[in-house]
Order: sequence, then C-alpha cells, then structure tokens
Amino acid sequence: MIHPLWIEQIFGYGFNVPPNVEVRRSARRRRTVSAYRDGDKTVVMVPSRLSKAEEEQWVATILARLAERERRRRPSDEALLERARDLSRRYLADCPDPASVRWVANQRTRWGSCTPDDGTIRLSTRLRGMPGWVVDYVIVHELAHLLVPGHGPEFWKLVARYPKSERARGYLEGIAAAAHLPAEDADLDEADHEVAG
Ligand SMILES: [Zn+2]
Repeated sequence: MIHPLWIEQIFGYGFNVPPNVEVRRSARRRRTVSAYRDGDKTVVMVPSRLSKAEEEQWVATILARLAERERRRRPSDEALLERARDLSRRYLADCPDPASVRWVANQRTRWGSCTPDDGTIRLSTRLRGMPGWVVDYVIVHELAHLLVPGHGPEFWKLVARYPKSERARGYLEGIAAAAHLPAEDADLDEADHEVAG
C-alpha cells in the first residue's frame, strides 16, 4: 500500500523526477506504467499520451510502489534473526542460535561473514533483492561456521543439509563472475568467515 499522505506530500511540494530516474515514453504503451532498477538507475516506462502532469503523478506513484515492494522484500535485522533461528532449527539441529544477524553495506567482496566467538553474523546488503533461497543459503553457511570454522568436508556436509545449497552456490558464483568478484570460498580467517561462492 502506498500511503496516500505520502503522495500528497510529494505533490504538495511539487514532485521533481529524481536525477537517477529515467522516464521513457512509449507510443506502444497504452495504459500501463512500470518501473525497474537498472544498476543505480531507475527506469520508468510510461505511455507517451500522458500529459506532463499525469506523467509526474504516475512516476511518483510507481516509484513509491517500487520502494514499498523492495521494503517488503528486504527483511529487517529482527526478521533476519528470526529467519536464521528457523533455518538453524530446520537444518542444523545442533547449532547454537546466533546472537545477531544483520545487514551490512561494507562487505564488497563477500556475501556474509560470521564471528563464532560472539555468535554474530553479517549479510551483505548486496544480497537484498536476490531470491529468498539464496539468502537462506548464505545464512545457513554462516550458521554452520558457528559449529565448524573452516571450509573442510565436515563443513560442507553440514551446509548440504540445506537442500538448495548447491544451486545457491552456483547462483552466487554466476553473480560473482559477472561482477569480477572472487568466485571461490575464500580462505578461512580466524575471526571472520566469508562466503564468496
Ligand atoms: Zn564460509
């Protein structure tokens, strides 16, 4: 739901299309307005028959909808912790509950990290918007480090209890390859464990 007041506020102050939003007018488009993210840019497709005022109104509406949809797809840290606990119970019966699981924006080359000493897990915000089963894999991977520090056979046996592990690793490897990030699980660091594939 878009909060009507929010839109009202936008128009109250006059809505200017933000600089990172590209509006594409299409003569073939009759009735639908749509928007998608393209890297740092947001592309909004509108029918070319719309007036400038209508166009602005629709762009504001669709941007609010897009933001709301993304907000729903991005669980909060609290929800993330609950999700980790649930995954832990389902797949890693002997695993201690993590102390915290939170999103961090500063992990550019790793998907997640875990500090077994204090039971904290961090997930890269780059995972946001990826399919839930991929995020779940990274959570399971980090949870498994609470039991087994390295990336040895015992570790992968644990991780394999989550049925989509192989598929998720392939998915992340593909993303890493496309972004020229390290594709293999990195060497173990005593304090931090990372998932890079
Ligand atoms: Zn790892």
